[in-house]
Amino acid sequence: MKIINSISHMRKQVLLWRQERLSIAMVPTMGFFHDGHLSLMRTAGNKADRVVVSLFVNPAQFGPNEDLNRYPRDLERDAKLAEDTGVSCLFYPDVKDIYPPGFQTWIRVDGLSQGLCGTSRPEHFRGVATIVAKLFIIVRPDMAIFGQKDFQQLQVIRRMVMDLNIPVNIIAHPIVREPDGLALSSRNTYLNMKERESALSLFQALQIAEKMVASGNISVPEIIRAVKKHIQSFSNTKIDYVFLGHPESLRPCREIVGEALLALAVWVGKTRLIDNTLLKQQANQAHQIDKSKGSEI
Ligand code: AMP
Repeated sequence: MKIINSISHMRKQVLLWRQERLSIAMVPTMGFFHDGHLSLMRTAGNKADRVVVSLFVNPAQFGPNEDLNRYPRDLERDAKLAEDTGVSCLFYPDVKDIYPPGFQTWIRVDGLSQGLCGTSRPEHFRGVATIVAKLFIIVRPDMAIFGQKDFQQLQVIRRMVMDLNIPVNIIAHPIVREPDGLALSSRNTYLNMKERESALSLFQALQIAEKMVASGNISVPEIIRAVKKHIQSFSNTKIDYVFLGHPESLRPCREIVGEALLALAVWVGKTRLIDNTLLKQQANQAHQIDKSKGSEI
């Protein structure tokens, strides 16, 4: 595996691969790899000839009082994990090269960046869109893999790629979880034992909602109430938001029709965790019940 720090070196490597007509898949990350990251890398390896993983803790997507300085970092460990996963190149540019003095060009995806995480993190998606666009310009991948764990981020990137005609195929990867359901996150390392227990309330709340919908309850206020009640029953939890709405427009809805996104952000102690699921209305549930009754007769 090649470990590349300089932007010009990365460009040269890409040029060589392009001359050999090799396809490139990219996985943008902030490092401190867990099985979620590694799963994205494996998917990339199954889809392209070469896999570039970028590792960049992007200051532009952190707010002034957020965890930029304490965000976990371990380049050596990450390099070993990426290499063992079959990654072709680990690209870890410096902040001073990505944002040189005088930097003043930003990408803003207006509507989709507002609401959900955008409410409490107003500059977050501007930082995300800008770094991802820069990485796409440097690496020119054929495809890029993003986790559904960061659902809003995925939609922001999809929109940006469409709006700016960036020729990269965006591939969504399902959420990778611990055996008990907690979504893997580099930030889980912040949690102490008691907080780790409370962190499970997010996944459990999603399951409660899934069961409500499966049993025919499609009332958004009722589902949101049940989700909040469950999370609040755990110690050290503080809800940032519970969103239920359209997965593409990210606008809230009143009733679940077809498919709806349930997304959560919850503070557990000093750690902010996110999780989500797609709720699917059982469209022909009533019809099925009738049918099964019919067959009994
Ligand atoms: P991060 O390093 O947290 O910026 O994440 C890098 C990429 O990994 C993003 O596309 C995330 O959505 C994805 N990712 C992080 N955690 C998970 C997870 N538990 N399951 C699936 N994808 C994930």
